[in-house]
Amino acid sequence: MSQPLLAVEGLRVEFRVDGSILTALDNVSFTIGAGEILGVVGESGAGKSLTGAALLGLIDPPGRVSAGRMQFDGQMVDLRGDGMIALRGRHIGAIFQDPLTALDPLFTVGQQLVETLRMHLPLSARQARLRAAELLQETGIADAEARLDQYPHQFSGGMRQRVVIALALAAQPQLIIADEPTTALDVSVQSQVILLLKRLCGERGLAVILITHDMGVIAQACDRVAVMYSGRVVEIGPVRSVVQAPAHPYTRGLMAAIPSTKVRRKRLQQIDGTMPRLDAIPPGCAFHPRCPDAFGPCDVERPDLLEAGQTRAACWLHRREKSA
Ligand code: SF4
Repeated sequence: MSQPLLAVEGLRVEFRVDGSILTALDNVSFTIGAGEILGVVGESGAGKSLTGAALLGLIDPPGRVSAGRMQFDGQMVDLRGDGMIALRGRHIGAIFQDPLTALDPLFTVGQQLVETLRMHLPLSARQARLRAAELLQETGIADAEARLDQYPHQFSGGMRQRVVIALALAAQPQLIIADEPTTALDVSVQSQVILLLKRLCGERGLAVILITHDMGVIAQACDRVAVMYSGRVVEIGPVRSVVQAPAHPYTRGLMAAIPSTKVRRKRLQQIDGTMPRLDAIPPGCAFHPRCPDAFGPCDVERPDLLEAGQTRAACWLHRREKSA
């Protein structure tokens, strides 16, 4: 495999609350290559958005990155420092859930695109406006030249998210971190936005980290997926393998909760219980109180990622299979 564009190693994020240290991300490691879409999935509170925020240098006190480093395009960055700030915007773009918060209602879409373009690239005002129209066109906005002079409220939700994608692409980044980019949109436009990201990824060799709670979006869009639970990656591998043969009981639970047109079920299955709070993460495997397969070591020892067929899963079942 060629050198990944981004390799994250041992990312740890802590929060100091009332004199105690709570660990919100623990030893998170993964890689992503150019032109690849890596999904990051899990329930609310699993740590997926925090992972994106840490890579963008957006963790505010009382939170802090207490360990971790990343290699980005051959450059080593200590995640505890502010090295990511130089990469953000120019080399790493971001798309967040609510396009309205990413856009300034007082400025036209064209003004915002031109300003972003000129901040990062050596373009005249005229060149930047031409490029802004091209970006709108590339993201599927018709009549782009005229729409540059409109304000965000004159765009529908789906179109606004396309504008946000155009803004994220303006500086020609190599990586985009998209945090729940379709959650605030109507179901009818969600898959259009996902297909757009997929197309841009293929055309530009752009790498995308797609953060979502929706396993259906992962199956539709991603090449590989990292499943997170309680601040850790519990399974990582090619999407096809994870979807068709999940190796971690938590991933199996997520898959069973997706509606399917192929399998007839009276009701969708749910994973019993809830994700533990940060101040109540159980010892051993954090999933053990909810796990239908828990056995001997599960409430004592915490498993690291183990080889599990085509994927790697943090689950003692795979040690048992290996030694059986
Ligand atoms: Fe379940 Fe044990 Fe595997 Fe955790 S380690 S997922 S509790 S079987």
